[in-house]
Amino acid sequence: MYQIVHGMAGIAIGSRLDNPILAFVLGIVSHFVLDAIPHDSLELRDWENNGTDKFIKKIALEAILDLWGLMLGILMMQEGFSLYLNYPMMAGMIGAISPDYIWGLTELSQTKNQAMEKFKAWHNKIHTIIYKAVYLPLKYTVPIQVIALTALVILIKK
Ligand SMILES: [Zn+2]
Repeated sequence: MYQIVHGMAGIAIGSRLDNPILAFVLGIVSHFVLDAIPHDSLELRDWENNGTDKFIKKIALEAILDLWGLMLGILMMQEGFSLYLNYPMMAGMIGAISPDYIWGLTELSQTKNQAMEKFKAWHNKIHTIIYKAVYLPLKYTVPIQVIALTALVILIKK
């Protein structure tokens, strides 16, 4: 899932807990639960892998836009709904988005680290738990992510 979806899941978890450490841990768990839902796009995969620009550059661009989306979402919650993040919400959000940054680091690192490779293989495996063919057309993945995002925003307790 995109960071905006994972981030809102972490915020929703944190909004229902008092303990930031628990929120952080459950945020990490939520990442893998959400990634089991089919969400990867065929069209984006082709764009990432083809053409002259490097894969890693395109992934970085996606990550930046995605993070801006999450920040914009948080700002809108603050300005529009006076919903401010407390420590459990922040901890939940950081936990929920961190697995993808660890994944990014494994892509960037030159040296092959055993633990990182294992993490990457496992993260990829989660993506095929519910639906074997990981990549779906955008006409499915966009609604899936939008529905997940909406449901999670509704779950945020004010
Ligand atoms: Zn992920």
